[in-house]
Amino acid sequence: SATPVTVTVTGAAGQIGYALLFRIASGQLLGPDTPVKLNLLEIPQAVKAAEGTAMELDDCAFPLLRGIDIFDDANAAFSGTNVALLVGARPRSKGMERGDLLEANGGIFGPQGKAINAGAADDVRVLVVGNPANTNALIAQASAPDVPADRFTAMTRLDHNRALAQLSKKLGVGLDEISKLTIWGNHSATQYPDLFHAEVGGKIAAEQVEREWLENDFIPTVAKRGAAIIEARGASSAASAANAAVDHVYDWVNGTPAGDWTSAAIPSDGSYGVPEGIISSFPVTSENGEWKIVQGLEIDEFSRGRIDASVAELVEERDTVATLGLI
Ligand code: NDP
Repeated sequence: SATPVTVTVTGAAGQIGYALLFRIASGQLLGPDTPVKLNLLEIPQAVKAAEGTAMELDDCAFPLLRGIDIFDDANAAFSGTNVALLVGARPRSKGMERGDLLEANGGIFGPQGKAINAGAADDVRVLVVGNPANTNALIAQASAPDVPADRFTAMTRLDHNRALAQLSKKLGVGLDEISKLTIWGNHSATQYPDLFHAEVGGKIAAEQVEREWLENDFIPTVAKRGAAIIEARGASSAASAANAAVDHVYDWVNGTPAGDWTSAAIPSDGSYGVPEGIISSFPVTSENGEWKIVQGLEIDEFSRGRIDASVAELVEERDTVATLGLI
């Protein structure tokens, strides 16, 4: 049988990890013909909980799962890894300033980037889920100078999927009728879900909804969905975040469907006026295992303002981590 693909998951004992690992082991991350080997990375005090999850994974008897190893050392966890899902992060605690948050995460994503640089497989692909995801990805990338920069990505697929769901409900159409939706910018409250290029039944989505709904309902609902879920569930979204991570990697490896695109935060090449190098969400297609930014979209004044605001936040985050010496 085929050689297993090594997938490393950090924060493996957390709630997203718990929702994610079973999806990976059952073959949904890479497809039904690809066996996987799981490397779980945790901080020492969470290793025991990760062992519990590994016991449950064993007990699922997934035919594609070819082994599980648990580590508290990043170098060991990323050795030979093909797919790195960086989920564990330092959450914002009460009274913490953004600079403190970025610094605390620099202490996680810097060393993980170094470990990826030192030992990951040549084809390694990295998805950062842990927040602030875009800038954490930038820190990891800066610490991995020998890995092609475009292998470092951050997740905006959950925002994308949330936007699809809201639009589908609003218009009473199936998800398969919606295409070309885009999340631009940062995975934060400034993100911009764009309906001006999205199509429903082949026609522009923005023209099928009231402007009032688009600006005052749709955009804030998508941007604040995480908080609404915490309010309702008493815990942050986990299964939907894991699902989006699966979607992101699956499409990266297997390609996006013809005639459509998705959203992912990838290093900017300067497209659409987004400063080169920052990891920002774009409309993207995946071909031959590489993300490409969809080119040539016309951006009107409204969208321009929204994109610029989110990109300005990313530039600020980049400047902060640069000042802290993290990139
Ligand atoms: P979760 O599994 O719920 O979340 C993990 C990270 O994903 C958080 O940074 C969270 O951001 C982020 N995230 C991104 N998008 C979403 C989304 N849409 N909904 C919810 N979260 C999102 O956190 P837990 O606390 O349950 O688990 C984290 C685990 O990581 C712990 O077991 C901890 O020990 C581990 N950890 C491991 C490290 C390592 O391996 N070196 C380092 C640090 C932690 P946000 O905080 O903004 O919700």
